[in-house]
Amino acid sequence: MATPEQQAFHDELVGHRLILPSGVPGVWARSDAFESVLQRFDGRVRALAAADGAERLHFPPVIPRRLLEHTGYLDSFPHLAGTVFSFTGSEVQSRELSRRVHAGEPWAELQTQTDVALTPAACYPVYPMLRGVLPEGGRTLEVQNHCFRHEPSGDPARLQLFRMHEVIRAGQPEAVIAWRATWLERSLALLRSLELDAHAVHASDPFFGRAGKMLAASQKEQGFKFEIVVPIASEEPTAICSFNYHQEHFGKLFEIALPDGSVAHTACLGFGLERVTLALFRRHGLDAREWPAAVRPALDG
Ligand code: AMP
Ligand code: ZN
Repeated sequence: MATPEQQAFHDELVGHRLILPSGVPGVWARSDAFESVLQRFDGRVRALAAADGAERLHFPPVIPRRLLEHTGYLDSFPHLAGTVFSFTGSEVQSRELSRRVHAGEPWAELQTQTDVALTPAACYPVYPMLRGVLPEGGRTLEVQNHCFRHEPSGDPARLQLFRMHEVIRAGQPEAVIAWRATWLERSLALLRSLELDAHAVHASDPFFGRAGKMLAASQKEQGFKFEIVVPIASEEPTAICSFNYHQEHFGKLFEIALPDGSVAHTACLGFGLERVTLALFRRHGLDAREWPAAVRPALDG
């Protein structure tokens, strides 16, 4: 559900042909004007990650289904996950499938689950790649990918498929925690250089169900997740960048070790690229050619 303010912003974006609706909430095309801003911001994050010595990896927007199962994503976020199904039946069943499709009848049961799931967060496929002993000083990696979350909404800042630019660090606990703090400052400085009203807050993930509420409360209390929030199209500012400290979670699951044999800790940070872009259009106006003179060079780095 979108608030009237979110709906109004959505309609303005459509009116200026920045976003082109597909008919499904949270799935829209981007105009070149929108994409150009997104790419330029993405370039700024890439430059910061390169200066941090990050190794850049590239993944498709799907992960092995086994990875979704193994990481516990389905325990915490069963409501957000998307799995790919496909047709593997006989010719007779294929005719039944077409018949149902054209008759407007349900046909889901004629598909079977495949070995792939949609990527839920850009960093997920990175952890299995870290298996083994890390070099002295740990490793820093960087990825940018489309992520799927089943949260259909008329809020233009809540998409079902959106891009996340993440930087990931694996190493000693103190090093990982200090790294996350450095990136928080760095990210605030970047966003403020674009004249965004950016603030850091303690945050939690949208864990499913009643037990999930307790997990979220403890995550927040222990400071395992921060977010940078900015005003987009609601009274509550919206998260545009998240900083997560996973402790030993992924290190244990994927047997990522420090040179002394202990389990490595990991942290990640992720910019929601469509959200940053929307925040910029919200702040500076829907025609990027008319943005303040100081913002354009800041965006180009
Ligand atoms: P998270 O993994 O939930 O912390 O998300 C990382 C970042 O992705 C957030 O800070 C947002 O900027 C962005 N994000 C998360 N969910 C959505 C969504 N449904 N639509 C657009 N951006 C999102
Ligand atoms: Zn991550």
